[in-house]
Amino acid sequence: MPDPNGFLRYDRRLPARRPVAVRISDWREVYPPAGEELIREQATRCMDCGIPFCHDGCPLGNRIPDWNDLVRTGTWDAAVESLHATNNFPEFTGRLCPAPCEAACVLGLGGQQPVTIKQVEVEIADAAVARGGLNPRPVPASTGRSVAVVGSGPAGLAAAQQLARAGHAVTVYERDDAIGGLLRYGIPDFKLEKQHIDRRLAQLAAEGVQFRTGVDVGVDVTAEELRSRHDAVLLACGALQGRDTPETPGRQLRGVHQAMTHLVAANRVVAAAGDGRPAQAVLPDGTPIDAAGKHVVIIGGGDTAADCLGVAHRQGAAGVHQLDLYPEPPHGRDAERDPWPTWPWVLRNYPAHEEGGERVFAVAVQEFVDDGTGQVKGVRIAEVTVERRDGRRIVTALPGSERELPADLVLLAIGFEGTEEQPLLAQFGVVRNARGAVDARPDWQTDADGVFVAGDMHRGASLIVWAIAEGRAAAAAIHSYLGGVGSLPAPVDPARQPLAAR
Ligand SMILES: Cc1cc2nc3c(=O)[nH]c(=O)nc-3n(C[C@H](O)[C@H](O)[C@H](O)COP(=O)(O)OP(=O)(O)OC[C@H]3O[C@@H](n4cnc5c(N)ncnc54)[C@H](O)[C@@H]3O)c2cc1C
Ligand code: SF4
Repeated sequence: MPDPNGFLRYDRRLPARRPVAVRISDWREVYPPAGEELIREQATRCMDCGIPFCHDGCPLGNRIPDWNDLVRTGTWDAAVESLHATNNFPEFTGRLCPAPCEAACVLGLGGQQPVTIKQVEVEIADAAVARGGLNPRPVPASTGRSVAVVGSGPAGLAAAQQLARAGHAVTVYERDDAIGGLLRYGIPDFKLEKQHIDRRLAQLAAEGVQFRTGVDVGVDVTAEELRSRHDAVLLACGALQGRDTPETPGRQLRGVHQAMTHLVAANRVVAAAGDGRPAQAVLPDGTPIDAAGKHVVIIGGGDTAADCLGVAHRQGAAGVHQLDLYPEPPHGRDAERDPWPTWPWVLRNYPAHEEGGERVFAVAVQEFVDDGTGQVKGVRIAEVTVERRDGRRIVTALPGSERELPADLVLLAIGFEGTEEQPLLAQFGVVRNARGAVDARPDWQTDADGVFVAGDMHRGASLIVWAIAEGRAAAAAIHSYLGGVGSLPAPVDPARQPLAAR
């Protein structure tokens, strides 16, 4: 029986982040472990509500009150089991999820701070490693059926693990030189150290999943070849088409880049250092790209922009401005606009924002300024208002509000336009819809029979928790398509949306 008064006795507390001066001198994770005493105290705040809205907030349907109570009582092995029943990779979500479950925690209704669900989750995930490692599950006899998974992000990996555990032969094809999708070279180590991915991959490999890196499907192997080798194909290629701003004067200048170009180059340097190899942050054509000693301007207000900010400080930027088109959001939930338990529009302060830099809201870039040699030297911005008219976004600059910020490096973190246009699509006979995503039928098949889709490629740029949920659900559909015995868990269907006020 959970403690009904835990939330009255204990306030919400998170472990202290490592000091800024220390953490920006390395690439290690920002958060240290919470420690058993703190996390058991925090798990005690869960009321085990009759209707736990946190379940609906979490796309995976994680059994949050169950494992909160198991942590409260120190029953760690059972907590590990309960968490893994719904989530293949809690070490990723526990570190990286924005935790829509916490926005839906019933404590929020009474003006209390929500349970630290995400922190409890990561502590359970780490306890699994500390208490004997991520042991492979025994795999049943082979079904004799085989599945190709294209793309090795969280969607592809979750599907691969589910299918291998059901006895199917699974091969993951990845065009990059390492497995992990955005977790590997998109998200910096200070948010997710890569040993967490490697440990999980060792488990998948021991469960029979085969990995083929450096294989660009549609180029190095055709769709037809893949279909002849496998009984079903899952496309989980992400939504990596970065939004650009070609109409802005000066976009072609040297020093103006897509954010992902910068992040991937930086993350490759960290990976090389971990392997004892010297490396320099370079673009694919070998041009150096590093923020050291530079004035950096990051355009955009989301996860990607915050990651660029953290990277720029660790590389030794002289100064950083982060620009947002929209006004500063409120600091607390506006219940009229976003009633509980929906995900509120509020100012999100990432740890990277503690580390320096200046956030500038309600501004738009008017021009990237040339230093006379074709290199950017500044960004001319204007204050703006943004409104929606007939579904279109109208941005109006305020006359006389223009000013210039110094900039040697400009990073565009203004979102993604869906999955990339690439040969694989036509070869499989699938098309991008108006959002740049690939539609799925209710059984996760695309327009091509036997070809399934999941993760960002289907949903558009989203979150790891959705990618895992879609990977699990697509695996369930593939299992059934292959005539597998019984059914696998399917936490979401292709039409499922986040909790919303109707
Ligand atoms: C910088 C950044 C930071 C983020 N931070 C967070 C965060 O903190 N929390 C969070 O929840 N979400 C975050 N996200 C979003 C999250 O990373 C994605 O939603 C998630 O990774 C999507 O998973 P996926 O498996 O669908 O695709 P991806 O992770 O994008 O993986 C797709 C893979 O497919 C491969 N691929 C593509 N085409 C081919 C082909 N033809 N052949 C072979 N392989 C191919 C790609 O190389 C890639 O490895 C972040 C995103 C970015 C860009
Ligand atoms: S995966 Fe995300 S939404 Fe689900 S319980 Fe964990 S932190 Fe909450």
